[in-house]
Amino acid sequence: MVIMQNYVIKKEDLNKLVERALDDYDVYAPVQKKSIHVYDQISDPASMDLNYGQTMTSAKKLFNPPVENMMTFDFDKKEIKDRLEDTIPETPSLIVGLHACDINGLLFLDRVYGGEYDDLYYQKRREKTTIIGLNCLESCESGFCRSVNTHIVLEGYDLFLTPIEDERYYVNVGSPKGDRLITLAPDLFEEATEDDVDAFRKSLQKKHESLPVEFHLDNLTETLDMAWDDPIWEEIGEDCMNCGSCALVCPTCYCFDVVDEVGLDLKESTRKRKWDTCLYYDFALVAGNHNFREEPEARLKYRFYHKMRGAVHDQGIIACTGCGRCIDACPAGISFLDVLAQLQKNWASAPTIEGGN
Ligand code: SF4
Ligand code: SF4
Repeated sequence: MVIMQNYVIKKEDLNKLVERALDDYDVYAPVQKKSIHVYDQISDPASMDLNYGQTMTSAKKLFNPPVENMMTFDFDKKEIKDRLEDTIPETPSLIVGLHACDINGLLFLDRVYGGEYDDLYYQKRREKTTIIGLNCLESCESGFCRSVNTHIVLEGYDLFLTPIEDERYYVNVGSPKGDRLITLAPDLFEEATEDDVDAFRKSLQKKHESLPVEFHLDNLTETLDMAWDDPIWEEIGEDCMNCGSCALVCPTCYCFDVVDEVGLDLKESTRKRKWDTCLYYDFALVAGNHNFREEPEARLKYRFYHKMRGAVHDQGIIACTGCGRCIDACPAGISFLDVLAQLQKNWASAPTIEGGN
């Protein structure tokens, strides 16, 4: 077993590390744009802002972009060109400042885009990416990560930073890629002392005390088994506009559509893939104009059940990181957290249905 050494680095020196990394990596980090934060490529470490609550969109866009060309077909030559697997840049990427919820989001996508249905594009980008995580010691505005156990990560990062006293970070090394980052700037890191370990524990205690538990995960599966006909679905279905914003900002929603777009000159056709969501009317539309989920209410309910119940069946875990982006993005004011908490209130004391889980 390899035992990784832990280190400390001054907050101001993190910028120097990123500066040196820019020679070898495409670097992405949270940056402020007007009133929001987004992950963006940076060319100057001064432009990153690690003092942020939540980015508007998750890091999934760096591994599975909202729209991308998969290939182009040339009708004259009858050949395929510009295949995506050949055109993904080889330069390694570095993402700085990913919170625990987003690292857990990527670990979920690893399950979906790996294993039974390997997604080569996702895998290629994942393999060439190094991640510096950042521990949240206080809750962001809408997040409920502690309720769904995504406030901690034990894997999925290469370095993980926890703010400790004296404007320094305690650095957990999670992989050989993390070791490589340290070798880029060994002068910036010091081995953690016993006092640093104590400071690290104090930070974890602060986090433990400040992140609230909003609902309990342990009986969610049986609650949803009981709540299929709860009136709440009709109530929120009436408000939902099926705009899809909640799914587009979600770190674990993974659906995409594949379309062929033929050029007006009929010389080329481009195959694209685009993010899709079960909230859109045509998602479950099939031949004969039959729609499995005709009503907005049915589509919204499906999303809840797929993420919080179906994913448990398929992947063994819920498809929610508690990041709260869906709450911030919803123009109708529908809160995933409030809906789940209300269902638990309505059903938690009821007996489990026969044959339920
Ligand atoms: S949901 Fe939790 S881990 Fe994610 S940003 Fe908010 S506090 Fe941090
Ligand atoms: S963001 Fe709100 S209104 Fe839009 S689809 Fe999601 S729940 Fe419905």
